[in-house]
Parts: sequence; structure tokens; C-alpha cells
Amino acid sequence: MCSIIGYSGDDIAAPIIVKGLRRMEYRGYDSVGVATESNNQIELKKGVGKVEEVNSKVNLEQLPGKIGIGHTRWATHGKVTDANAHPHPSTSGKIAIVHNGIIENFVELKENLKNEGFIFQSDTDSEVIANLLQKNFELSKNVKDAMLKTISELKGHYSFIAMFENGQLAAARFHEPLIIGVGKNNYFLSSDVLGFIEQTDEAIYMDNGNFAIINQDQIQILDFQGNEIKPEITKVSKEFADVYKGDYAHFTLKEISEQPETIFKAGENTKNSIKAVSDYLKHSRNIYLTGSGTSYNASLVAKYLLAKYAKIKSESIISSELQFSPDSIEPNSIVIAISQSGESADVLEAVNIAKKNDCKIISIINSMTSTLSRESDIVIGMNCGPEIGVAATKSFTSQLIILYKIIQELNGDVEIDLDEISSSISKILEEHNNIKKIANALKEISDIYVLGRGIHYPIAIESALKIKELTYIHAEGIAGGELKHGPLALMDDNVFVIIINPEDSTYQDTLTSAREIKARGAKIIGISDKESDAYDYWVKIPKTSELTYPIAETIPIQLLSYYCALEKDTDPDYPRNLAKSVTVK
Ligand code: GLU
Repeated sequence: MCSIIGYSGDDIAAPIIVKGLRRMEYRGYDSVGVATESNNQIELKKGVGKVEEVNSKVNLEQLPGKIGIGHTRWATHGKVTDANAHPHPSTSGKIAIVHNGIIENFVELKENLKNEGFIFQSDTDSEVIANLLQKNFELSKNVKDAMLKTISELKGHYSFIAMFENGQLAAARFHEPLIIGVGKNNYFLSSDVLGFIEQTDEAIYMDNGNFAIINQDQIQILDFQGNEIKPEITKVSKEFADVYKGDYAHFTLKEISEQPETIFKAGENTKNSIKAVSDYLKHSRNIYLTGSGTSYNASLVAKYLLAKYAKIKSESIISSELQFSPDSIEPNSIVIAISQSGESADVLEAVNIAKKNDCKIISIINSMTSTLSRESDIVIGMNCGPEIGVAATKSFTSQLIILYKIIQELNGDVEIDLDEISSSISKILEEHNNIKKIANALKEISDIYVLGRGIHYPIAIESALKIKELTYIHAEGIAGGELKHGPLALMDDNVFVIIINPEDSTYQDTLTSAREIKARGAKIIGISDKESDAYDYWVKIPKTSELTYPIAETIPIQLLSYYCALEKDTDPDYPRNLAKSVTVK
């Protein structure tokens, strides 16, 4: 989670670092800090809050010097306090570090360092890195040796950047992202290309288990054994530069509104890969789908589609659960991993387990240069551009389109009309005013249920997730037929139930569920192409096919969650306690 950034070059570092942190704030945003070096002295400012808040309080941008590091935090160890915000200086103040990830053995390391006289100012796991580096640098007087010794002592998942008072930067990558931006007279170290894309589009994607040392205009990349690695420079896709809100009030609204266009790009230019995926699926006995959060919900849709339209059995597994039953994956199977960022620690771990079982990995990813991309045999791109809003919106519909394309390849009778899907999304987006009214009615409610059957059940689960993320209202997806087996007990006049009810094979049964719920006093929001007196509120969606209804019914719930967040005065782009790219377990 969190973002780390480092800069070394000809320009004043702090404003560049703050700009990069603003762009990467989606990764974690409970505290911010910057440290810079000038005249062999490290200065540091940090505090609790978002980049804008902390910057206006302490003037992060006014730190002097042309070398610096910065951090936005998503706390894992230690409360959200000024002292726990990064960067962390070492006891001598001659080294400062920023860290993304978790140091698992920090308790022992901290104890030993304390016994040797090192002083700690925070409750974080990260601070041990600063003090270990100080200890090892004092012994070797050499950044490379200090890094090698420190890395050999750390256990856990991390990427960190260390700044030495002599102006050298060193950065290590171990199961957390770290990318080097290469400019004309400068270098950037960053968790994400968004941290430097406005300055340069040339990047070195550091491999796992490598570290870098930047000394003025010289860069050295080494592996954890100390062997030098020849850096490979890649051009970063220009579309990553599209990280502005434009006229939209929030990234979330912008990203919801982009969907009539983004769906056209899903899986684009990957015709051969989609064919290759379908060949694999036809010839494999065991197929598993895995993901976390919204991507897991997409895997549930995929399972349904594969069974119904391609007669292929598959199993969906929550990525974080696989480690507890690794034998549930048969060796030599196909695993389809779905992840927007391609950096989700849980998904990467699941893929790791699958690879140990000699499985082929097919991944559906938005960030094509991510770790997951490099771990996969076949990669299909969502190509929906950067998704900054923490709650997934356009990436979900792009995932669905890719799944439709795979189904189409497997079953020639299936027809997908992207123009039709795009225009139905546009029509639903015009329903703003109706949806705003419903959002207003929901603002005092503490429980919302979302009910759907068949292919609409995974959409009900995804809808409940969106509501939770954006509005902090308790929400739950219900499989229509399960209503009478428990959830009906919860229905009374304090409750709202969203009924996903397009006119397909599920229609009549779901309408009956709506009436049963209404009879218990709950208010009904019907999402359907057909009006009914069972609905207290009706959101009209265009008529389409069973296969493509999931996209049509997802859009109003994204909008409803967004507007309800505004009603409740929560920040839709940065929901509390969450972060976009969940790179820790
Ligand atoms: N574990 C560190 C902390 O809690 C870093 C968390 C992060 O990745 O933001 O400060």
C-alpha cells in the first residue's frame, strides 16, 4: 500500500516529490512526509492527513535541496500519528527512510538495536530499517555493503528508499513495487509510474530482489547477492499521463463516466491472447479463477458465464484464502488471476502457489507493467487507463468485457455488441437526477441489501461492496432464493433493498422476492428495464441480453454509491481505511 518516492537531480526536490505524492495518494493517505538533503544535512517534515492538508500546515514543498524522499502512509504497524508518519530518521539523523510494506521481524530487530543504544521515536515496523542502515553504514562506511547487510537481516515484504546525509539514495525492492524514472538530469524512485510520469516517460522496472544506488548522476542496480545488473529502460505508455480529474468533482465520477469509452479498449489488441486463452480453457481439466474484492466478484461472473455459455466448469477462489488450502488447486491446471493493479499481494501469493503446482497463469490486468504481468503466461489488458478512485468502477466493467470476449471465442453463437453496451451505459449515466434523489433517501439508513439471482447474484455482491466502500453503510448481497433461508428476518421499515431485476429468466422469481420484502415494510429500489408497483424507486436500465445485463445494472449502483457518499459527506475518491493497491497481506 502507501507510496514511496525519491528524487535526485538538478531541480529542487521537495516540490517534485510533493507533486508525485499527490498523484499517488490513492495508494494510501493517512499521513504524509518529505525529507531532503542539502549541505550534508537531512531535514524532515511530516504529519497526519492528506498531502494537501499536511502541505498547507507544514510547507513540505519548502524543504531545501536537490535530493529527497517522500511517503504517503497506510498504517499497518502503529497508529495514525505524526510520529509514525514517514520518513523515519535513524538515531544519528544521518539517514532517513521511507518504507512500503511490512517488516515481519521488526520486534527482534528493534529489541537488539535498542540494547545497542539506538533510539526509536515511532511504533512502526519501518523505523528499524533506518537504524539497521545506520549501524551497518557505520561499520562498512559504504552504502552498497550497508544495504546488502541490512537486506540480509530484514524479513517481510518491502520496498524502501534510504537517503544518506552524503546525498546518496539507495532503494530495495522485495515483493512490493519500485520503479525508477530516468529523466535527462535526474532520477526518480517511485512505487508507481504516476509518481514521475509528468517528468519522464522512461522507466526501469526493478526486479524483485534487486536494489539500486543513486549517486548524483550515476545509478547502479544490484541483486541481493551484490551482483551488478544491467538496467533495462522501458518507455511508459503515455496514457498513464491521464491522471487529472478534468472538470469532474472526483476521480470516481470521472472514472464512472468514462465507461462508455473504456469498454472498447478492454482486451483490445489481444485477439491472439484471447484465442490462446480459449484454447487453454478448452483443453484443461481444471480451471480456477482468483482475485480480491471487485476482481473476485468478476471471477464469480466468469464462473457463471463459463458454465452457462461454454459448458466449462471452473472454481472461483478468494486469493487470500488459497494459502490455507493450497491443495484445492490441482497440478497442471489453468489459473485466471484478475487484478486491476497487478500488484495485489494476495493475488500474487495465490499465483505463486499456483505456479508451484505447475499451473499456467492467465491474467487480466490493467497495469501491464505490473508484477502479475511478469508472472503470467498470458496477459490480457483492461486498458482502461489509470483508475485513481479507490473503489473499482471502470476496471470492473472492463473485466466483464474481457470475459465476454473469451466466452465469444469459446462459443461462436454468443454475440457481443460493444456499441450497444456503450450506448446503454451512456443512457444510464443520464439518470443522474433520479439516482441523486434515491441517494438522498439513503443517507440516514444503516442497512442496505442488494438482491439478485443467477448472473445477477455476483453483481449484487459487487454492488454491496461498492456501497460499503463509498458510503460506509452496511450492505450485503443476497442470492434471491436464500431470502427465506435467513435474510427475510432482517427486513423491516428501517431497511432499503435494491432488487436487481432485469427482464430475463430470473425476473418473476425476483419480483416475488421484492413483494415478500415489501410486505415486511422495507423500501424497494428496483433496477430493471420493466417498471413494477413493487418498487418504491425505479432505476430504468435499457433492455439488453442476459449476458450483458450485468454491465447495465452495475452502472446505476456505482452512481448511487457515489452520490450517497456526497450526501454523507465522505470522500468518494479516498474512503477511510482503504487503499487502492493492496500490496500488503
Ligand atoms: N508498515 C509501515 C507503517 O505502518 C508502512 C506502511 C505502508 O506501506 O504505508 O508505517
